[in-house]
Amino acid sequence: MEKIRMTTPLVEMDGDEMTRVLWKQIKDELLLPYIDLKTEYYDLGLPEREKTGDQVTVDSAEATKKYGVAVKCATITPNAQRVEEYKLSQMWKSPNGTIRAILDGTVFRAPIMVKGISPVVKTWKKPITIARHAYGDVYKGTEYRVPGPGKAELVFTAADGTEQFRQTVYDFECGGVLQGQYNKDSSIRSFARSCFQYAIDTKQDLWFATKDTISKQYDHTFKDIFQEIFDAEYKAQFDALGIEYFYTLIDDAVARVIRSQGGFIWACKNYDGDVMSDMVSTAFGSLAMMTSVLVSPDGKYEYEAAHGTVTRHYYKYLKGEETSTNPVATLFAWTGALRKRGELDGIAELSAFADKLEAATIATIESGVMTKDLVGLWEGETPAKGVNSLEFLRAIRARLEA
Ligand code: NAD
Repeated sequence: MEKIRMTTPLVEMDGDEMTRVLWKQIKDELLLPYIDLKTEYYDLGLPEREKTGDQVTVDSAEATKKYGVAVKCATITPNAQRVEEYKLSQMWKSPNGTIRAILDGTVFRAPIMVKGISPVVKTWKKPITIARHAYGDVYKGTEYRVPGPGKAELVFTAADGTEQFRQTVYDFECGGVLQGQYNKDSSIRSFARSCFQYAIDTKQDLWFATKDTISKQYDHTFKDIFQEIFDAEYKAQFDALGIEYFYTLIDDAVARVIRSQGGFIWACKNYDGDVMSDMVSTAFGSLAMMTSVLVSPDGKYEYEAAHGTVTRHYYKYLKGEETSTNPVATLFAWTGALRKRGELDGIAELSAFADKLEAATIATIESGVMTKDLVGLWEGETPAKGVNSLEFLRAIRARLEA
């Protein structure tokens, strides 16, 4: 059989531990036999980041800007224990954070649904995609433990040195806590454009919610910027596709999400997205059954798995023990990237292959063959057969070939 040809390389970002093992297995079993795979390879594994002073991460993000589509394996974000374990010269920053800062994107996460594993929320029939604004707010906040009585003020000094704003936050009569947070119009605009663009790409409604009734400047600015950009740049395309942009208060949104059937994108401010994506993914089943893609406002895509490097399994693997790590999220990162590359380059066969591979994966699980993390969630009629990662990938291959 003739292999599918590619014209533009994918930016391939390799990673760490168990997911690095799966990465190779996925390529060997399910991609290389069928595709004349073209990639520009960047090794984001911790040893290579150490060796290059983390330059490899920056280079991989720049390559994504150049080519437009990347696929990333999970990577270790070092902490003190990892510095010791890998004898690092520095506690290198999170590669995801570095890549996100360079691409200025929004992260979209959606559950992969299979028959036999049902969402905890009974009304949910279709996936709910969370779009998280991954910049600013409390994540870039400045905090202070107020020791005792005194006055806290919010002061803004313009670039020319003139004080433009001064307001009392609180006159403390006792100790307490104090926090300052910010966001930037430019980042909120990027967030809005990424969300509208993704809604168009996936032909789904977009919901957005904040607490603008309470936060009349901060949250209200998010609401206003979204509306302004929607009206000026996206309304016509939404109308043409028959999809909707819907704004509501965050508490109302939560109630509506729980009563909904799913099938839409829920844009969340940074903190809401952090909390809600874990709530939604858990309610749908498992982190290993989530797709995740970073979309930049100028249409660059970085596909990844939502989970980490599954360290616990890796230590077992190193001891020669068999592991049943779920490769679905990593596999779907590859299919997402290949499909997008196919769309951008007009290679219908490549996109069709990605569709078939995803369908074969879902059909394999629906037939009762799955990794052990899913066995406990299984409610299907045929009894679940828990297999190891490689057996699972080979079962998908058999189905793909059939
Ligand atoms: P993890 O996602 O690797 O594991 C969390 C839990 O979920 C574990 O119990 C694990 O066994 C289970 N799990 C996750 N994915 C699974 C899969 N595919 N199959 C079966 N079980 C799975 O997160 P962690 O343990 O908090 O972190 C491990 C490492 O991953 C850390 O070094 C962290 O820095 C890194 N990390 C990377 C990313 C990323 O690159 N996107 C995200 C999160 C964590």
